[in-house]
Amino acid sequence: MDEKNLDLLLTSLKNLGVSLTDKQLCSLVKFYELTMEANERFNLTAITDERDFIIKHIADSLAAAPLIPVGARLIDIGAGAGFPSVPLAIARADIRVTALDSTLKKTTFIADSAMKLGLENISAVAGRAEEQTSLFNSFDVATARAVAKLNVLLELAAPLIKVGGLFIAYKADDSELSISQNAQKALNMALREVKEFVLPNGDPRALLVFEKTAETQKKYPRRYSLIKKSPL
Ligand code: SAH
Repeated sequence: MDEKNLDLLLTSLKNLGVSLTDKQLCSLVKFYELTMEANERFNLTAITDERDFIIKHIADSLAAAPLIPVGARLIDIGAGAGFPSVPLAIARADIRVTALDSTLKKTTFIADSAMKLGLENISAVAGRAEEQTSLFNSFDVATARAVAKLNVLLELAAPLIKVGGLFIAYKADDSELSISQNAQKALNMALREVKEFVLPNGDPRALLVFEKTAETQKKYPRRYSLIKKSPL
């Protein structure tokens, strides 16, 4: 990584209040290289420029790092090539991360990268969030970035989290809150915090943080076709 971009990475982390060891920084850089290598074989991300990758993938992913409780068990819904799950697993050795995605080639890439990076606190699961009944009520935190509208995400996330657990939705702003009022009520997901921040390129971002306040009713989650067709 060239020096200017390394500086950008360090400044971004400082602004987010995330401090990393040299080993963790090396892992982030190595993950960029692994992603680019694999990108030649199968499309993982449209973001290939090093500077863009730092800003839009690494800094954005790590914005939630300070919000995650110590020792948390976290599931990343629709992890894709591993965002935010892999940067979070690198930055927070105390947490245990499950990267979930419906596409096997993506979870295979994440598992393969974790092995190459020597990351022992992340595992990858291939499958749909709404079908992971064996994982329901298992997580302290769920995250999702660029997967679906907020009302859909709440139905995917709520069953996976324990009562008292958090769901962190990575969004550009808080504009989807209004269309998800009904979903919040139906799924016992209460808005706790909106963390707004600006990426180093000036793009605005918002982390919408929800707490699961009670058990999810048995009728949720519905089948994905129904979730999509008539979102809460
Ligand atoms: N979070 C990553 C990837 C976003 S693309 C990032 O921000 O870069 C959205 C991903 O969500 C795709 O890889 C898709 O396979 C996955 N996905 C969509 N619906 C899903 C579901 N119901 N369960 C699991 N994964 C899902």
